[in-house]
Amino acid sequence: MSSRSIGLTDELHQYLLDHAVREHPIARELRARTAELDNARMQISPEQGQFLGWLLGTIGARRTIEIGVFTGYSALVTALALPADGRVIACDVSAEYTGIGQPFWQRAGVAERIQLELRPALDTLHEMLGQGAAGTFDFVFIDADKENYSAYYEAALKLLRVGGVIAVDNVLWSGRVLDSSVQDSATAALREFNSKLQQDQRIAISLLPIGDGLTLARKLAK
Ligand code: CA
Repeated sequence: MSSRSIGLTDELHQYLLDHAVREHPIARELRARTAELDNARMQISPEQGQFLGWLLGTIGARRTIEIGVFTGYSALVTALALPADGRVIACDVSAEYTGIGQPFWQRAGVAERIQLELRPALDTLHEMLGQGAAGTFDFVFIDADKENYSAYYEAALKLLRVGGVIAVDNVLWSGRVLDSSVQDSATAALREFNSKLQQDQRIAISLLPIGDGLTLARKLAK
């Protein structure tokens, strides 16, 4: 194990949760509800959610986009971190999964900040670009089908203001990015995506080994 990033034992992870995470009670309930699902691992962790909220506050985010909502935990923690007039454009194709989160958004009092777009995210992003929304968003969270990450990123970068941030989940893909015996389309797409961002001079980049790997990209002035 690398001595350069600390590996978390279960006990140390629990210590982190116990000593540094403040989870909104409704968010905790939604996480418990989602944990009942077979694919609950698609949900971000509470410390990752808290980090996103912290980041949104730090950059003064008001307008955000989420690509890949699943059951709405990250949309909820995002909405909770935004000012009252803040807005999350929440993009997903599953009415079933997003429908699990919606009552929790209501109960947390932030449902009016979340605009759910139930169709392919690229349709929503390209429509917003066509309506002149380029440069008007503060933050984009990409956590959806890996094969489209590069297309999501390109659209997101256009929609972002200079100084805005894109966060991309699952970029370490449980380590499969470096296992050459794994050649499925999602893994191949992530390898290509990670290499592309490293070279992309339009952004400042940082990859945090939190959760399944989270890349942060800040849009630079041209
Ligand atoms: Ca994810």
